[in-house]
Amino acid sequence: MGGGSFAALGQSPGRGGFPQLGHSLFSMRSIMTRRLFFAFLVCLALPALLKAQQPEWVPFCGTKDLNLLRDQVRQAKADMEGALLPRGGITYVPVRFFLVAKSDGSSRVSEKRVLDAMCVLNENFADMDIQFYIKQLKFLNHNTIYSNPGSTSGQFAISNQLVYDAINIFITGDAGGQGVLGYYQPPAGPGGGTDYIVVLKNEVHKNKTLSHEVGHFLGLLHPFHGWEESGGWDPNVHGMQVGFWAPDGQTRNEKMDGSNCNMAADEICDTPPDYLFWNFVSNCNYFGQARDPDGVLVVPMLDNFMNYIFSCTQNQFTTGQKNVMTNFLFHPLRNYVRPNFTPNTQVITQTPTLKSPVNGETLPARNNIKLEWEPVPGADQYLVELSITVGYSVNPITKITSGTSVVIEEELLPDRLYYWHVKPYNASYTCADFSPSETFVTGSVLASREIEEVDGLTLLPNPVNQGAEALLEVNAEAPFEAELRLLDVNGRLLLDLGRRSLPAGTTLLPLPTGGLAPGMYLVVLQSDTGRNTRKLVVLP
Ligand SMILES: [Zn+2]
Repeated sequence: MGGGSFAALGQSPGRGGFPQLGHSLFSMRSIMTRRLFFAFLVCLALPALLKAQQPEWVPFCGTKDLNLLRDQVRQAKADMEGALLPRGGITYVPVRFFLVAKSDGSSRVSEKRVLDAMCVLNENFADMDIQFYIKQLKFLNHNTIYSNPGSTSGQFAISNQLVYDAINIFITGDAGGQGVLGYYQPPAGPGGGTDYIVVLKNEVHKNKTLSHEVGHFLGLLHPFHGWEESGGWDPNVHGMQVGFWAPDGQTRNEKMDGSNCNMAADEICDTPPDYLFWNFVSNCNYFGQARDPDGVLVVPMLDNFMNYIFSCTQNQFTTGQKNVMTNFLFHPLRNYVRPNFTPNTQVITQTPTLKSPVNGETLPARNNIKLEWEPVPGADQYLVELSITVGYSVNPITKITSGTSVVIEEELLPDRLYYWHVKPYNASYTCADFSPSETFVTGSVLASREIEEVDGLTLLPNPVNQGAEALLEVNAEAPFEAELRLLDVNGRLLLDLGRRSLPAGTTLLPLPTGGLAPGMYLVVLQSDTGRNTRKLVVLP
């Protein structure tokens, strides 16, 4: 199935002719000033001037094959004509996030950012009764998917990862060249190695980009459909009054009076005409004077999720767009993201209380450190972050668990102050804050990992008088096997007491200590997975 569809995809999602025409939002003011100043004097030279002044890229969506999507949306619209949508409330849509790293495991997006992205996505779709939930956070190490997902080999590698039981979203370091923030890869529907989203790791948690791509996934086109490859409206190229056809030669330019809105641009009537005005918007203000094919001044909508304007703080979908998405969601092409499953939807209003270690407590070792916290109502997952900086930016260690404790097996720096905090979440609610941070100081030694089955290990009596017998009381939550040994404080083996099979519950193991000189000794229980040590003091 891969070969044919990849051949059809052809070029990678990418830059088209954009870079030399666009400019960054940050340089808008100076360009605008120059534009107004030179407008009438040197208008023919303006494009060259702009080219010289502009940085090389603008942010945009790299979705290609949008006409493929358009044809599917038209078909879906026809299919769903008059259909009664089986909606009795919120529709829950599963999402699989691929947290893609380089092949060596570096540069991966943080779990925190992915949870933030989920939170933003759900806030943006809440008013249309669509909510997303985490089906899986998948950690993937793959150089090509990380740095060139749109290449032929990148697409092939992605297609091998797809499981059609959720929206598959790849969070990467590159999405098809400079300026591309993300893209949706049509056609829609399961199979065929397509129907996934790629988003830059630096964009995924922001207000617009992920919701924009999910908009495509749910059947939305750009309000400036037909202008994507043009570089945007330019009066010197397209005229102050645009013609009937968009630069793609096959899409009608939408008119202000709404007379062709059903068949022009995105074919949605309440998104006003838009001819890709990114060169004429600054700080969420439009200053172009474009006219529609009838000569009527265009009033574009700037804060729409589906345009390329990134300077509006909040964005919205129109009612018409919401209707398209709802219809598309209930089309058979989207059956695979409607499993009719209701996840944990509890809103989490508390942050966990951290129990141990806290208050800068100094620990004996610098590894195998157990962190514990109180459970929080509504949470069935916890994200733990640990770092030597309170901003958690320097080599943070992260853990995800469904329990209320986790063992940090990694070797931490010796004798260092560490910060840790815990964020509670569940599959659909990821907006809760982290707990306040707590601290501990690492020891300098490396502790070996303890035996999992052992609940308690006590020497009776301890200290013990020379010549008397000591007992090792083992409390186990499950049966296990271990070697019992007696060492001196320098780690030299004094007595090998053999391999023992220990049942669940309490067992007393006699220690023949009669011949030991007064001093300190180490009693060691060593299993295949861990090691527990107790100090025994023999009195004269
Ligand atoms: Zn797009």
